[in-house]
Parts: sequence; structure tokens; C-alpha cells
Amino acid sequence: MKVIAVANQKGGVGKTTTTINLAACLAEQGKRVLLIDTDPQANATSGLGSVVPPGGSLRSVLLGEKRIREQIVSTLLPRLALVPSELELAAIETTFAASESPFFQLRGALQPLREEQDYDIVLLDTPPSLGLLMANALAAADLVLIPLQCEYYALEGLSKILDLLPKLGAVESGKGTRILGILMTMFDVRTNLSQQVVEDVRRHVPELLFQTIIPRSIRLAEAPSHGKPITAYDPSSVGAVSYRHFCTEFLNRLSA
Ligand code: ADP
Ligand code: MG
Repeated sequence: MKVIAVANQKGGVGKTTTTINLAACLAEQGKRVLLIDTDPQANATSGLGSVVPPGGSLRSVLLGEKRIREQIVSTLLPRLALVPSELELAAIETTFAASESPFFQLRGALQPLREEQDYDIVLLDTPPSLGLLMANALAAADLVLIPLQCEYYALEGLSKILDLLPKLGAVESGKGTRILGILMTMFDVRTNLSQQVVEDVRRHVPELLFQTIIPRSIRLAEAPSHGKPITAYDPSSVGAVSYRHFCTEFLNRLSA
């Protein structure tokens, strides 16, 4: 079982879109996938059309009230399961701060799943901040996938992320969390800027950049409001094709 955090401290860069659609493509390819929503905004939860029953989110797991297995719900897709989030998860940051090992709650909660190998891949959608929830996701992950928006400020943040992520993951455990790669998102064919940003990232970190680039596509933005991944909402759209392509590249890199 591999645990991958989809992370970038910036909001609106395509983390949730990538998590949902990569998860759907992996399940489509026959992998047993668990998506854990660690963002109190719960966009991955609603994007998969899931409604959280009272006490049914990741929050109870992190509080030690429930086991993670009890909070797993099925989705509309076979082989894709979900641990939902809810707004109340935000309050956990204060609870955690008082605990002895605030960074390792999620890691500990995942241990039974690792032992039983119930899933091939666990994807963690993360909040756009560097708080304890993000630190928990990074400490629980084996690898980090960084979505980067094709826009100017993406580059400014990149060196900061590359510097910070392994350190956050390494807090206490001393292992550091390896970066699997960078996925460029929201590429706009009509602008030179998109092309330039990709070129710059390629120059700086060629070994990290995934070849697949996710284009800006209205269908990708619409899908969550229908509670579906793009592969279910519009299976032949350019967004669906791109994420399937990325999924293949992702699996190749994972097994390399
Ligand atoms: P994050 O999770 O990093 O905050 P999201 O995945 O929620 O980012 O994306 C931010 C917004 O951009 C959302 O409204 C989403 O639907 C939209 N979006 C994401 N990827 C694309 C894309 N490739 N094309 C068009 N819109 C996109
Ligand atoms: Mg998000």
C-alpha cells in the first residue's frame, strides 16, 4: 500500500481536482483506492457526491474516537472508497496542538490499513495551509505529489514548497517525505505564459516534472457540482483523457 499526499500550500492550484480524478482513474485501472479528505473545506468529499453523516468524518478518527475503517464510505465508483471530511475538522488544529505527538495522528490511524493491505493506493487531499492537518498528511505519506498551476506566482512558491515539504514530513520521524513529482495544471493553450511557466519548471526541476500537463477545461470545473469525477461526468472530454494519461505516468513512476 502506497500513501500519497497531494499537497501545495497554495489554494486553487488543482489539488482537489487532481486527487479526485487521479483516484477515479486509478480505480478504473483496477486499483483499490482510498481517498482521505484532510481538508476541512471538504471539497473532495462533496466533489464525489458524498454527504457526511453526523460523526462520520476523519475528525473522529483523529480525535481517537473511531477507527479509520469505521469511517470509510463507498462512492459511485467501484474500488474507490472515501474517508470524508467536514468543516468541524478545522477545530482539530487546536486539539492537536495540546497532544504529545501532534504530527503522527493520521500516520498511526493508517497503520491497520497498511498491515492488512486493504488498498493499493491511498490518496490524501490536503488543505491549503501549513498547519497541523497538512503536517499530519505529510507525515502519514510515503510520497508527495505537487500540483502546480500554470501561472506566474506558481514559480515563486515552488522553491518554498520543495524546501519545506520534506522537512514537514520529517518532523520527529526523521525520514522526510519524498516528492514523487510535479503536475502542471490549468494549462491555457492560448497564452504564452502557460508555456513559459512549464519551461521554467522543466529547467529547474526536470526530474520532478510529469510529462502530462492538465489543460484548463470547463468540464473539469463543472464535474464537482455534479458530484462526479471527470471520468464519470464526461468520459471522453479532454480533462478525462488528460487525467487518464497522467494516471498511467503516475503508476509508472510509482513502480520505478
Ligand atoms: P485546490 O484544491 O488546490 O484548492 P481545486 O482543485 O479545488 O484546487 O481547483 C480550484 C478551482 O479551479 C476549482 O473551482 C476547480 O474546479 C478549478 N479547476 C481545477 N483544475 C482545473 C482545470 N484543469 N481546468 C479548469 N478548472 C479547473
Ligand atoms: Mg482543495
